[in-house]
Amino acid sequence: MNRTYQTLRLILGDQLNSQHSWLNSVDEGVLYVLMEIRPESLYVTHHIQKIIGIFGAMRQFASELKAQGHPVVYVEIDAAENQHSFENNLNQLIAQYQVTKFEYQLPDEYRLDALLKEYTQTLSIGYAAVDSEHFFTKREDLTTFFQHKKTIVMENFYRSMRRKHHILMDKDKPTGGKWNYDQANRKKLPKKHAMATPFLFEHDVTAIYEAVKAAELPYIGTIDSSYFIWPLNRQEALVLLNDFIDRLLPTFGLYQDAMHSDYWSLYHSRLSFALNVKMLHPLEIVQAAETAYRQSDRIDIAQAEGFIRQILGWREFIRGIYWKEMPHYQTLNMLKAKRPLPAYFWTGRTKMHCMRQSIQQSLSYSYAHHIQRLMITGNFCLLTGINPSEVDQWYLGIYIDAFEWVELPNTRGMSQYADGGIVATKPYGASANYIDKMSNYCQSCYYHKKEKYGERSCPFNSLYWHFLKRHQSNFIKNPRMSMIYRVWNKYAQEDQQLILEQASKYLNNLEQL
Ligand code: FAD
Ligand code: SF4
Repeated sequence: MNRTYQTLRLILGDQLNSQHSWLNSVDEGVLYVLMEIRPESLYVTHHIQKIIGIFGAMRQFASELKAQGHPVVYVEIDAAENQHSFENNLNQLIAQYQVTKFEYQLPDEYRLDALLKEYTQTLSIGYAAVDSEHFFTKREDLTTFFQHKKTIVMENFYRSMRRKHHILMDKDKPTGGKWNYDQANRKKLPKKHAMATPFLFEHDVTAIYEAVKAAELPYIGTIDSSYFIWPLNRQEALVLLNDFIDRLLPTFGLYQDAMHSDYWSLYHSRLSFALNVKMLHPLEIVQAAETAYRQSDRIDIAQAEGFIRQILGWREFIRGIYWKEMPHYQTLNMLKAKRPLPAYFWTGRTKMHCMRQSIQQSLSYSYAHHIQRLMITGNFCLLTGINPSEVDQWYLGIYIDAFEWVELPNTRGMSQYADGGIVATKPYGASANYIDKMSNYCQSCYYHKKEKYGERSCPFNSLYWHFLKRHQSNFIKNPRMSMIYRVWNKYAQEDQQLILEQASKYLNNLEQL
């Protein structure tokens, strides 16, 4: 006779949380299931390193659970019994093992949340959904926090999080006397700078790569399958965290907004993948940064606060916006942007050096840091009016850390202003002036950073003004933007016309830039 289990527990590919209370003790009556199914690889075209990273980490997680004595079923992408549907695979296991209760952890993605809710309605056995025990906040906390407030401002939420979790606080005062040290950061990388090299893993993932190819899963990007650089289990994620704290945190905030053609991740932590698949808990990262700051003279408050704000503030805020605004959020297009994404987003073949660099490294590493995402590719899509759904799909597919709950408000909201200002108080549009200030890209570009019109004028310059002009009615009353419009009004009419004509030429020839 077949073995039977009372309970079947589903673990999704981004729920690899070995500290979850489910796993505190081994229960012989509980069967865990993890599955690699085609639809999860098809809803957008993912980067090959993202597919391999998730499958690889899931497989290692399942092996660890088995080694601890937990009963586990792991359904591989090419398994004969795999029906490539959560529902069908679960039904099959429930029948096979005569399961009487189904349990799952609350998914972070709206689509999966709806799918699992619907699925449980079809069951004739008991079921329960439990917390994933990952975030500082519950889904609805942000909505409650801003319930009676006129505006939704991240900084207010962040301060409340600092107080509530007693992070970087001395009694009831912020450590160092200030809540936010952003002004002390934002430096360009100096010319002669001894840059720390990124710590990379060297996994051989050829077996998974072959399985993905055999299953004919579509993908973008490149991979060296004998040299996979991302962490695949909690121990490795902790190594990456410790390396970041030790070597990169002392300079994190200072060069947080800098970009450089020789360095693809600079002082960024590259912890987002490990964090988003829940190998690490955000609290342990934040505590590690605070402890390092308190114990070491090498880390000043501006670096520690700058880093902690990203995780305790931005990450939780973004998640709160997602659950507050979904599902209509994914359809918002306040600026009515409708151009298709140019082909060079998939190849990096463009004369714009900043774009080439940001896209090519995304294709090579499945990673770009925040300022490349926001102020290069995102900025370009904003200024040129690319359809936000196409922008979303690109970001959701290409980055190893991209899961809809965090990708969508960052892309559609922060970067494309398609939400009309729910996430950002003003659009993050910028000309070559900003890009040149924060990077070395313009120094070796086909285009001329100072020119606003003319054959080799930097596209960002004329497109910037064209964007502001065509959306004037949306932004002129925004107090953070009125000064920019005053600058525009100081241009001679003839110059204004030449700039706008240049932008129109570029907009009509986007593929050729
Ligand atoms: P670090 O610079 O080292 O920052 C530390 C951590 O802070 C990150 O790992 C991340 O967990 C958190 N963080 C920082 N900024 C944000 C933010 N704006 N929102 C949420 N968390 C933040 N982040 C994702 O995790 N997944 C995405 O799909 C994603 N898409 C983005 C799309 C756009 C257009 C933009 C502008 C930003 C996006 N971000 C996304 C946020 C941010 O760019 C990445 O979290 C960061 O680049 C990851 O690299 P890192 O771990 O080296 O970050
Ligand atoms: Fe980018 Fe313009 Fe600078 Fe070239 S000149 S790198 S296109 S900002």
